[in-house]
Amino acid sequence: MSISEVNGRNVRSDELHDRALERSPGGVHSNVRLRGPHPFIRSAKGAWLFSVDGRDYVDYLLGQGPNFLGHAPDQVIQAVSAACRDGLIYGGQHEPEIQAAELVCSVAKWPDMVRFSVSGTEAVQAALRLARAATGRTEIIRFQGHYHGWLDNIFVGEHDGTWGAASAGQVADHLRPCHILPWNDAELLVEKFEQYGSRLAAVIMEPIMINAGVIEPLPGYLETVRELCDRYGVVLIFDEVISGFRIALGGAVERYGVTPDLATYGKAFAGGFPVAAVVGRQDLMCRFGTGEVNHSGTFNSSVMAMAAVTATLTSLRDQPPYAKVGEHGRALMSGLLDIAARHDVNLRVAGLPAAFHVSFGDAQVRDYRSLQQLDLARYERLAAALVDNGIWLAGRGVWYVSAAHGARELDAALTRFDKTLEEWKV
Ligand code: PLP
Repeated sequence: MSISEVNGRNVRSDELHDRALERSPGGVHSNVRLRGPHPFIRSAKGAWLFSVDGRDYVDYLLGQGPNFLGHAPDQVIQAVSAACRDGLIYGGQHEPEIQAAELVCSVAKWPDMVRFSVSGTEAVQAALRLARAATGRTEIIRFQGHYHGWLDNIFVGEHDGTWGAASAGQVADHLRPCHILPWNDAELLVEKFEQYGSRLAAVIMEPIMINAGVIEPLPGYLETVRELCDRYGVVLIFDEVISGFRIALGGAVERYGVTPDLATYGKAFAGGFPVAAVVGRQDLMCRFGTGEVNHSGTFNSSVMAMAAVTATLTSLRDQPPYAKVGEHGRALMSGLLDIAARHDVNLRVAGLPAAFHVSFGDAQVRDYRSLQQLDLARYERLAAALVDNGIWLAGRGVWYVSAAHGARELDAALTRFDKTLEEWKV
């Protein structure tokens, strides 16, 4: 694996982008990718991406999270390849799906039952439907800056201080049962529960707000949420699609010691394969099993998906990478700050070693609104310059560390970061 330091235009990527534009809107297949990074990728292995232009990138985006074991992890690829020889989709049950569900429950420790789906977006929908069926209520609380997929009833954005539908074509009415609150404010939540707690089916949140700023819950906040949900008979849903099996083997539940009623998993638990799950307490989950609550999907629990989950979770359980990820993440966070200080740049680095946030400024950040006090636009420009210099990142500030990142990647990342700041003027 040679480290190419070629500079200049990405000629082949530009050609491919023009071609892609002819047949795919924006040249991409997920709107998240409209904002880059833009070079076209030829292949990926471990913590590295290789572009069609002959460049390499040390990767801290990890495909938006799934590649927690690194790209193309041998143990997962081998397991999936072997399993696929026996068929891909049966339209019937098979033992590997039992094995994968058992493993999710034993590794995460708290859930009783699992339903697999293909995407995190779908797993969230299943959890919301279950909560509404179980409570006979419709309204939910979700929080500003948390992401739970792109569907009409949950996707929100801010326009001039008002929260609502985030996309043209979205049916705004589908958000009507949704109270969109600032996160991490226990007093406000108590007030809202007093107003309409008895009408709520669910509270859904990222238990650590990784999608906006990698912000941890304030001490006692999750406990307050848990207590309010218990008091008012509301289903607490932790969306652990990003935090699950990443910030600890047992995700946010293990780190913060608060257990939800339902949770959603995805990304890190399948080594890069498209799988997600809704998990939770038996008395709630069994409503899917009676047929009372519908949850369906042609591709749910495919042979390939189940092999990927089993191989990934076995690896995470038997060779836990968390100490190594922590060491790399901490060294990277402090290395970035040291280099920035030498260049007299007011960089802010916050979060956990497995997922942290980089920006400019020094505001006290505890929710989406305070996050906006940082200079996020300036970081977006820096991220584009970092990509030009061989660090693969998105512009929204989050850096993900994988089990495949080691000393060589740290050295490459810090050298390239230093070079970028040397040249960078905005
Ligand atoms: N929930 C969270 C917390 C996420 O971060 C995401 C995706 O980034 C989703 C749900 C949606 O998952 P997917 O993109 O697999 O549909």
